[in-house]
Amino acid sequence: MADTHDGPDFETLAIRAGQSRTGEGEHAEPIFPTSSYVFESAAAAAARFSGDEPGNIYSRFTNPTVRTFEQRLAALEGGECCVATSSGMAAILSTCAGLLKAGDHVVCSRSVFGTTTVLFSTYLARFGIGTTFVPLADLDAWEQAIRPETQLLFLETPSNPLTELVDIRALAALAKAHDGILAVDNVLCTPALQRPLELGADIVIHSATKYIDGQGRCVGGAVVGDAERVGKEIYGFLRTAGPTMSPFNAWVFLKGLETLALRMRAHCDHALEIARWLEQQPQVARVFYPGLESHPQHALAGSQQQGYGGIVSFEVAGGKDPAWSLIDAMRVFSITANLGDTKSTITHPATTTHGRLTPEQRTDTGISDGLVRLAVGLESVNDLRSDLERGLAAASR
Ligand SMILES: *Cc1c(COP(=O)(O)O)cnc(C)c1O
Repeated sequence: MADTHDGPDFETLAIRAGQSRTGEGEHAEPIFPTSSYVFESAAAAAARFSGDEPGNIYSRFTNPTVRTFEQRLAALEGGECCVATSSGMAAILSTCAGLLKAGDHVVCSRSVFGTTTVLFSTYLARFGIGTTFVPLADLDAWEQAIRPETQLLFLETPSNPLTELVDIRALAALAKAHDGILAVDNVLCTPALQRPLELGADIVIHSATKYIDGQGRCVGGAVVGDAERVGKEIYGFLRTAGPTMSPFNAWVFLKGLETLALRMRAHCDHALEIARWLEQQPQVARVFYPGLESHPQHALAGSQQQGYGGIVSFEVAGGKDPAWSLIDAMRVFSITANLGDTKSTITHPATTTHGRLTPEQRTDTGISDGLVRLAVGLESVNDLRSDLERGLAAASR
């Protein structure tokens, strides 16, 4: 993959960045399962605590395995600084708690992860932070929603499950013009396919639970950005409030990063093949995948992403009953809402991830009763296609 910054290429950074060996000369990164660290003397302890001397004190603040993960992910996103968190939601909470105060206002895409919507509309609201939700791709709506007290613009692109995009460069310019901070949740693309900081965003957020782990094992998250906001303000909240990443999880995510570029390439290839095949099927009314020429933002996807991702959604003709019959006929696809795993998954958004929305809200956001979402994994494409073929046959019975 071509890299725009100087220094080693992405694949090399993904395998090498952030590691410093101990005196044992270990080849793989070690795990440091320790809560605290010892000092050589009372004076050395005092110097650490006062900040006069850098170094480890306690694993709520720093841990060498977690630091290796942070430095590697920062290198991959092209950011100055990264802080690892206990989950993706902890990354979003820490960003808000570190950067916002009562009276501030957030403009957020209405097509973000469901729990993110709840965090903004229920919990941040309790602390006097208001949020306006806007349609993701409508740049005028973003501009109109900005108020003098707006501090943060928050989005995911592509959206899940409908794979809608927004022009990150355009929103970064808008944020800048209004002295706002643009935060992009980059879970669906990962830095292997999209680097929002290079497109002008200020903050990148991750749920490492998804493609960074890549094999559905650990829950974790991260925030990447500049040394002031991420390294001081967000880190300050994290070390005080405590949603830190465990060293074991950091180690699993480090191993995930080493194969990230390869895996994302394979997820993209498999997803494109499945999407093209679905488009040919008579029982399928519509397919949503940015890699298809029929996707209205295919050109934008090509200009801001290095691949089209692993999420494919489609509408089964006839609504909910045929969609459920299709899902129940699966033998390879797992019926679960998770994504970013080697294992392919299938969901019915209208009755699961988007089940809390009113029917009008679902219509507004395009979540129809026949919509099925796939997170295409790394099994053989032939087997995935056979599974869907069986499902479509069941759906038309
Ligand atoms: C899963 C997910 C999150 C939340 O991450 P957790 O690790 O589950 O807390 C946030 N954003 C997106 C896009 C996600 O898919």
